Amino acid sequence: MDIKITQVEPGKLKTKPVDESNLGFGDIFTDHMFTMNYETSKGWFDPHIGPYSPVSVDPAAMGIHYGQEIFEGLKAYRAKDGGIYLFRARDNFERFNRSARRICMAEVDIDVAMEGMKRLILLDRDWVPRSPGTSLYIRPTMFATEPHLGVRPADEYLFFIIIGPVGAYYKEGLNPVKIYVEDFYVRAAQGGTGEAKTGGNYAASLFAAEKAKKMGFTQVLWLDAKERKYVEEVGTMNMFFVIDSEIVTAPLSGSILSGITRDSVIRIVKDWGLKVSERNISIEEVIKSAKDGTLREAFGTGTAAVISPVGQITFKGQDYNISGGKMGELSQRLYNEIIAIQYQEKPDPYGWTERIG
Ligand SMILES: *Cc1c(COP(=O)(O)O)cnc(C)c1O
Repeated sequence: MDIKITQVEPGKLKTKPVDESNLGFGDIFTDHMFTMNYETSKGWFDPHIGPYSPVSVDPAAMGIHYGQEIFEGLKAYRAKDGGIYLFRARDNFERFNRSARRICMAEVDIDVAMEGMKRLILLDRDWVPRSPGTSLYIRPTMFATEPHLGVRPADEYLFFIIIGPVGAYYKEGLNPVKIYVEDFYVRAAQGGTGEAKTGGNYAASLFAAEKAKKMGFTQVLWLDAKERKYVEEVGTMNMFFVIDSEIVTAPLSGSILSGITRDSVIRIVKDWGLKVSERNISIEEVIKSAKDGTLREAFGTGTAAVISPVGQITFKGQDYNISGGKMGELSQRLYNEIIAIQYQEKPDPYGWTERIG
């Protein structure tokens, strides 16, 4: 498929941020975007890179009414030699298509989507920041555009990719966060859509997240929907606990997102000869180990923050301090390792990174 490129007129380019220490997350977008359209009778058509601009949608677009919307989040990294690298990008597009299948949406041709993404990044390559810890965030998105009221899978979709420079995800940086264990509201249930990266899951999470924020917490730790007993994940991150010499994370049981950072952490710690278990872990076990001192570390994993250490968890009104409120040794070692691979500061033994220009 031919990708048409319409460049912004030179006089109309945006001003790039000069201060890379203040990029924040999710507010700055580059000059261009990639789009393509789908109709059931035609398949995907009109792949196009054009100026970043609002998209026009019919008020009856089914995505607005019935929530057929999915997205991905990945990054491009600038190495010291100026080269631009992707990290496990194909895994993101494979997950995108799994989300599409779950929400009954059209699957994309991964090669076309990735080609569009790479050309977009290279066209806007001067936007890829250079300071340590910064990167270019990539947001592939799809929603149903068919104008129709009535619940069924739509026959028309818009796929687009927008990109923008980002700094550190959390204001706290690598400082440990405080998380609130939610024992009433749930994000996703087994058999539901928790393993799809679809907008509705995040809408469902907002109420409890806002409640926690007002109480001074950064994130909510979700428990399973059936018993409110087992730990699932936090906000937009998978969770790991280090108890004695075992590293524990929840299994992919259908209600949590299959994180690529989660998978990378599991691979790396296995290679380090450490014991890692994907098993049910109850909040009681976490609390008990926090009390008796065997809970050595807790951290979240996700593309945005990579490793986010947890310094305190609060459950039923009780605060439990973890790692003395500091970043744990394993968390720090994992963070350094993944960052080093992403920024080409050490060889990538896994074949996870790809130079695109
Ligand atoms: C995106 C996301 C993650 C992390 O996935 P990565 O592939 O590691 O970025 C975890 N949980 C939820 C709910 C997410 O949306």
